[in-house]
Amino acid sequence: MKIHEYQAKELFSKYNVPTLSGGVADSVEQVDKIAADLGLPVAVKAQIHAGGRGKGGGVKLAKTAEEVTQVAGEILGMTLVTKQTGPEGRLVRKVLVEKGVAIKKELYLSIIPDRETATIAIVLSQDGGMDIEEVAASTPERIIKVYVNPLTGIQGFHLRQAMFGLELEKELMKPFGKVLGGLYKLFVDYDCSMVEINPLIITEDNEIIALDAKMDIDSNAVYRHPDVQEMHDPFEDDPSEAEAAKFNLNYIKLDGNVGNMVNGAGLAMATMDIIKQAGANPANFLDVGGGASADQVENGFRIILSDPNVKGILINIFGGILRCDVLASGVVQAAKKVELSVPVVVRMEGTNVEEGRRILAESGLNLINAADLADAASKVAEIVA
Ligand code: ADP
Ligand code: MG
Repeated sequence: MKIHEYQAKELFSKYNVPTLSGGVADSVEQVDKIAADLGLPVAVKAQIHAGGRGKGGGVKLAKTAEEVTQVAGEILGMTLVTKQTGPEGRLVRKVLVEKGVAIKKELYLSIIPDRETATIAIVLSQDGGMDIEEVAASTPERIIKVYVNPLTGIQGFHLRQAMFGLELEKELMKPFGKVLGGLYKLFVDYDCSMVEINPLIITEDNEIIALDAKMDIDSNAVYRHPDVQEMHDPFEDDPSEAEAAKFNLNYIKLDGNVGNMVNGAGLAMATMDIIKQAGANPANFLDVGGGASADQVENGFRIILSDPNVKGILINIFGGILRCDVLASGVVQAAKKVELSVPVVVRMEGTNVEEGRRILAESGLNLINAADLADAASKVAEIVA
């Protein structure tokens, strides 16, 4: 689960990671008031769950009261398009107003779990700021990684590796050590899958400050953090994913055109693979679960069909706890309520499969039967080609 920059910065403060003073606003009047209290110049920063805001016009500095009013008006209510939002962009409902500072140097610092080494990786660069992707692509040697064994945690030698890697001045080493130590503790305490500060700045006064803040908390662990639960912003959720969550369906929207409905997460992964192998691309991941009811199947169907990219649907069910006849009734029920605008290929095996096939055959629906999974994938790939 992602949180906003201003929320991540609240947590940073608790862990002794320095941030600038500021306030959150959802109206131009509030921005004016916060700016007047802080003193000029200020930075006005769009709060959306995506990076690249600066380049998209979502982060602006204002040096006079008039400029504050002007940039607040421009940013609040804008549809901000960045590399990470997709072409549709995001509506900006809130801004963070913070002190504007004179920047001497922009560093990059993030912490992520590294699957390959089963460690926690600290990623650093001297060339932080808005072009970090470019740095990674053209001068990868300017990005350094320090791997921390999660069992023993962060040690002095990790801090030294990081600081020497960044070629930090001597007098910055102590404050930097505090920032990295605090950030590491925050990462572990909050079950994060990512914490990123880009840029971590050195000011003209030689202070280290987190100018930006990104945090992604493992959704499966959010129940352990009531303060994070309260930070959830429903406006940032994908609407179809939010709808699916209401019905306890595990749905993730993807950008292909083959909708698929599968029971069991492992089978769903395998189904996505086989769709790819057949030359097509999945439009979603959808696990209807082991004990799905006909209603749940209907809701799953509705959500898949609400995606305008979907040109064909593959239903792949291995009847176990979810019996094939229950699934078939759900499909029929759904098809009666929502218009089946695209062809549907069905592959069913397992408990009550004969009864399931009978229900589908007698439904009068135009369904395409598949002999097995490979056959199902190639049939649906042909449909969407
Ligand atoms: P994003 O990564 O989404 O573009 P950032 O918070 O990193 O957003 O801001 C983009 C750039 O704007 C920063 O790299 C920095 O140069 C500048 N900036 C952001 N906040 C301030 C501030 N408070 N004072 C001065 N410059 C700032
Ligand atoms: Mg940034």
